[in-house]
Amino acid sequence: MIEVENLYKSFGDLDVLEDVDLTIEDGETIAIIGRSGSGKSVLMKHLVGLLKPDKGRVLVDDIDIGAIPYEELREVRKHFGVLFQGGALFDSMTSFENIAFPLNYFTSQSDEEIRERVLECLELVRMPDVGPKKPSELSGGMRKRVALARAIALEPRYILYDEPTSGLDPETSNTIDELITQLSDELNVTSVVVTHDMHSVFAIADRAAFLHNCHMHWVGPVDDIHKKPDEILDRFVKANEY
Ligand code: ATP
Ligand code: MG
Repeated sequence: MIEVENLYKSFGDLDVLEDVDLTIEDGETIAIIGRSGSGKSVLMKHLVGLLKPDKGRVLVDDIDIGAIPYEELREVRKHFGVLFQGGALFDSMTSFENIAFPLNYFTSQSDEEIRERVLECLELVRMPDVGPKKPSELSGGMRKRVALARAIALEPRYILYDEPTSGLDPETSNTIDELITQLSDELNVTSVVVTHDMHSVFAIADRAAFLHNCHMHWVGPVDDIHKKPDEILDRFVKANEY
């Protein structure tokens, strides 16, 4: 379980998050939604300790990740797979080497064990043959899937996705959405999906958390978005349902 308590974050004069609370339950898929610039990526980075709160806490399985030394944070991070906005693959490495990277960095597995795991991950994202290819040789959707394969390499308990479908055509977006659902079911992970694609939200998420004007404006089951309308949320949903 991840608990965000009373989180505040500013950059200089810019207040980005104020008094944000959010509890993410084990096994659920939660979408973090909000306009561009509303602080979704900033919130996501706090969940894995890449940013530290100015005030407030982030608890991962009851551990306050802002209050532990780096060595312990590194242990907590092993449980996270992160799909960054833009993918963030290493361009000079092949897809295989990209996926092997966290296994080499975090584990002491043998080359053969790593090879097997990389191939398993490529199977999971339904691209068994792209191992030798470099990111530059792949389409945007394929790169996202390689990044996803890398994110799941360490068998994470949590997967954080930052805009996994942005820049993709609707069909490729659907494939990514299906993969997110499949991974969540098969690997029994907790998924946090940052997006402003409401089509995705309705397709994959159990709950949605809506950031607006630095605050967590609305949190609830996706089914309630239309049932218990909120004017500001409604406007956001209408503008982003395509
Ligand atoms: P998008 O949908 O466009 O990705 P977002 O909701 O993810 O937007 P964030 O990236 O979280 O938005 O950024 C929120 C605000 O914080 C923006 O105004 C951004 O410029 C600012 N910001 C984010 N990271 C930093 C940083 N490291 N230093 C200074 N400002 C930052
Ligand atoms: Mg963002």
